[in-house]
Amino acid sequence: MELTELKGIGKTTAVKLQEFGLNDVMDLLFHLPLRYEDKTKITPIDQLLGFSFALVEGEITKSYVTQGRRPILVCEIDDGTAFMQLKFFNFYYSQKLKMKSGMRIRAYGEVKHGMYGMEIIHPEFSLGEEQPALAETLTPVYPKSEGISQKLLQKSATQATELLLKDAFELTELLPKKWLVAQQIPTLKAALLYVHRPPADANVSQLLNHTHPAQQRLKIEEILAHFLAMHQARTAVQQLTAPVLPINQALNQQLLSSLPFTLTAAQARVVNEIHQDMARNYPMQRLVQGDVGSGKTVVAALAMQAAIAAGKQAVMMAPTEILAEQHLLTLKVYFPDQQIAFLSGKIKGKVRTEVLARIAGDAELIIGTHALFQPDVTYRDLALVIIDEQHRFGVHQRLMLKQKGQASDAQDGQMVPHSLIMTATPIPRTLAQIAYANLDVSVIDELPPNRKVINTVLLDNNKMPQLAERIRNACAKGEQAYWVCTLIEESEHLRAKAAQDTYDELQDWFPDLEVGLIHGRLKSEDKQAVMDRFTANQIQLLIATTVIEVGVDVPNASLMVIENAERLGLSQLHQLRGRVGRGNRQSHCVLMYQAPLSENAQIRLQTMRETNDGFKIAQQDLKLRGPGEVLGTRQKGSMEFRFSNPEQDAELFKQAKVMAADLMQHNPEICEQIIQRWQRQAQELAKV
Ligand code: ADP
Ligand code: MG
Repeated sequence: MELTELKGIGKTTAVKLQEFGLNDVMDLLFHLPLRYEDKTKITPIDQLLGFSFALVEGEITKSYVTQGRRPILVCEIDDGTAFMQLKFFNFYYSQKLKMKSGMRIRAYGEVKHGMYGMEIIHPEFSLGEEQPALAETLTPVYPKSEGISQKLLQKSATQATELLLKDAFELTELLPKKWLVAQQIPTLKAALLYVHRPPADANVSQLLNHTHPAQQRLKIEEILAHFLAMHQARTAVQQLTAPVLPINQALNQQLLSSLPFTLTAAQARVVNEIHQDMARNYPMQRLVQGDVGSGKTVVAALAMQAAIAAGKQAVMMAPTEILAEQHLLTLKVYFPDQQIAFLSGKIKGKVRTEVLARIAGDAELIIGTHALFQPDVTYRDLALVIIDEQHRFGVHQRLMLKQKGQASDAQDGQMVPHSLIMTATPIPRTLAQIAYANLDVSVIDELPPNRKVINTVLLDNNKMPQLAERIRNACAKGEQAYWVCTLIEESEHLRAKAAQDTYDELQDWFPDLEVGLIHGRLKSEDKQAVMDRFTANQIQLLIATTVIEVGVDVPNASLMVIENAERLGLSQLHQLRGRVGRGNRQSHCVLMYQAPLSENAQIRLQTMRETNDGFKIAQQDLKLRGPGEVLGTRQKGSMEFRFSNPEQDAELFKQAKVMAADLMQHNPEICEQIIQRWQRQAQELAKV
């Protein structure tokens, strides 16, 4: 039903509402209140409580404007039980003139203890002997945007609910009746009516906590839609064709036996899962989750092996140049006889042209950064796409990547490459099941043997002499250390400068050590040179910005110092700490901090000190920051729920998952309708 059919909505207003994402009357119904105001009863002034919202009514005893730097309009009222003040900081004198003594006034607002009894600052009010009837239901307050008034939203929503009550338009109940009855779930219609017009005696705290059965009902359907859509996306990919890449046992064995270690049981299991996927004729969509240091690179290499053995190409993309270069070094060792191409944003001009020619030609393995997915990069025969540390990539980069998969299928009949996504963000399993419901998930839940637990200590910034001693001792034993500067600056330039300052200063502290410096502003070659020297133990103490956060692997490094660790989030700290403890030496991590610490920072640092377990850390992170943040803002898209919250509504998610499976089996015709209803809602939201 068109918005303009409602009273008070003309063409211009309708356009404004549409810009806000409210396209028709149905959308108004799905635009849920943020909170509620209780204007169903008048509270006697002598019963008012501070810091609560209340409706009061009384007679004006006097009104005046205070003479100060800033004039204030004060209106004193008396209701027979007590008197109180209403205060206005922004007002017109005409307003004062209307507030005559003896006049009745009704006011609503937040009550506070003032100097002279109770007061409300900037109340909503109405003047006059004839006050309107009290509200019959709680008054909803809606999310709004500029140019759309709360009044308008309230009036429109009221009309929409009245129309719904009269069945003036169609609202299909999509959940099977048997569920509604058996689980005492309200119908969609009842739920919508309730949340827009809760009765005066409604359980307000339930409503405010979003745990009221009416709200739960809406959430359930939203979550159902999510699971169904994820399943649909997954099935859609399974309709596509991918090259069948059976594993070549001989070559696989050859690679395995060239390794200086044997795979952990977890690695072997995951490799096996990947190989099974790749031997199918539809694209693999697998996410490999493994804590820092769990050995994901070699798993990726074994996947690549299957592509190369079939004469096709595999590409591996890393989020930073340093990490990409490191992968290049590792893979050169694993694949000494293969053609490997490398491309990053810093490779330009003639060299780039040559690299592009190789990618379109004889290259078998291609390593690099997101530069690999620029529109002018064409692959000869791409069969496998690996994205390392995918949580670090932006949405755009991932989109480009997806398109690349499709572009190459256009050239190559219907073929779509297999894709393998690797992440070290140890997302709690429950959250992973929601966010990645469209992917197969493998978990490397075991670290290589002989890894010693990293010992983490907290150290006040002013204990530098103690720390310096530690660093000297470690280096004297032939070990190496990282020193991470955590200046939070938007610009890489300022970050680099801070690291440079620290570098200059630390050289004075350690005249006998070889100190190196690495940051994002260095040229590729220089960065590589520094990393090479660090790897060869020619640099003993490496000063770095957080560029080394992801993936850097120098097993001989055993000491990680993080400056102002209180500035970093848990997952970043965990990633950084993961740069040590990679060999079989006992490693240490020193978290320097600037006192006093906020409570949140205290919890973070304590957590780091208490555990090395990425999953526990993620769980804590989830508590502190909420799911959107934990998945990285960049991934929020897949987790944008309007009403539901994966953390708070864990039970509902469980319930909905079972329901989704049931629906797909018994009522497939409804599935599509549920997805449609909520996808539409989601798209509207995305426009906002
Ligand atoms: P991740 O990418 O998961 O953080 P890496 O792939 O960088 O971890 O591996 C960390 C280190 O562990 C590397 O030095 C790697 O060679 C080594 N490694 C990997 N798998 C094993 C294993 N099964 N046994 C011993 N060392 C291993
Ligand atoms: Mg890695």
